[in-house]
Amino acid sequence: MSDRIYLASPHMSEEGYEQKYVQQAFDTNWIAPLGENVNKFEEEFADKVAIKSAAALTSGTAAIHMALKAVGVEKDDIVFCQSLTFSATANPIIYQQATPVFIDSNETTWNMCPKALEQAFEKYPDVKAVIVVHLYGLSAQMDEIVALCKKYNVALIEDAAESLGTYYKNQHTGTFGDYGIFSFNGNKIITTSGGGMLVSNDEERIDKVRFWATQSREPARHYEHKELGYNYRLSNVSAGIGRGQLKVLDDRVQKKTEIYQFYKKHLKDIPGIRFMPENDFDRPNYWLSAITLNGELQPNDIIEALENENIESRPLWKPMHLQPMFAEYDFVGGNVAERLFKTGICLPSDTKMTEEDLQRVVNVIKGLV
Ligand SMILES: *Cc1c(COP(=O)(O)O)cnc(C)c1O
Repeated sequence: MSDRIYLASPHMSEEGYEQKYVQQAFDTNWIAPLGENVNKFEEEFADKVAIKSAAALTSGTAAIHMALKAVGVEKDDIVFCQSLTFSATANPIIYQQATPVFIDSNETTWNMCPKALEQAFEKYPDVKAVIVVHLYGLSAQMDEIVALCKKYNVALIEDAAESLGTYYKNQHTGTFGDYGIFSFNGNKIITTSGGGMLVSNDEERIDKVRFWATQSREPARHYEHKELGYNYRLSNVSAGIGRGQLKVLDDRVQKKTEIYQFYKKHLKDIPGIRFMPENDFDRPNYWLSAITLNGELQPNDIIEALENENIESRPLWKPMHLQPMFAEYDFVGGNVAERLFKTGICLPSDTKMTEEDLQRVVNVIKGLV
């Protein structure tokens, strides 16, 4: 059996940048806590996405949790959340004992539909925050979404976990809202083995998040606490990996783009196949190449045929309003997210794939038609 081809897996730099920074942490015994790699990773990351301030945290999920806390989301507050996403976007709403209302996607972007968002604002005028997602590295329609949040004076959080390296009209995704979050989980475009980043132009609030994330320790010699604390800071070792990975982010985007173009070139003539949306305002990172099928060929046919050849692929995210965990919460919109889930597939988009690997995937799929 040939080597397994993955959807997306860790890819360290050929130059060994990550090991150099990790070695520095070892040499100085600054394995933990915090330390130079954490500070530098935050600075270098903020520079990369062009924002004032960034806090390195243990995960993207922790970053969403801290963003909700930073905008003041509390028990029984309503939070609008894109339905088509990974559950990590929505879970922190529950951590804060708030109430999610899920919003449909549109065909234009696969992300939050501005029309559905406006309907939701009309239905729930006292909403506290909105979480929009840039799925698979595709940007949402930020002009419309930012304008609506301004109009209704509601905080905007961008889940850019999958969109590091994606630009909307030449501005980095994750920098349009009050807060943006990124993930360095093992399957993301760059990884620290596990980790996340919260970004904002509000430096004071980011300082406050760093405080909460280190157990809310008041500046006193003894351990003094006035507020609830969390253990959410990234370690100095993980941050070293992140600094090295940041150096190859542009190469990863380049390779992901080539993967997408390869699939498009070789698969575009299959009856019923459609590639993920392409928009003038969007320069995606192509984290995952995704397609939908509206002909005879079913997503499962492809997923199973690939699995038989030891190749990983998956359906698109199952919308949150269809998840048993979130069944009790309201949903605003139509059936776009549901239809995308039922017809979509993420194709292997691992940056370590060779042209031969890509050809293997294409051959399996073409063999079905
Ligand atoms: C990966 C991911 C997260 C969570 O990030 P972690 O670092 O794994 O906690 C959140 N939202 C989306 C859309 C993701 O893909």
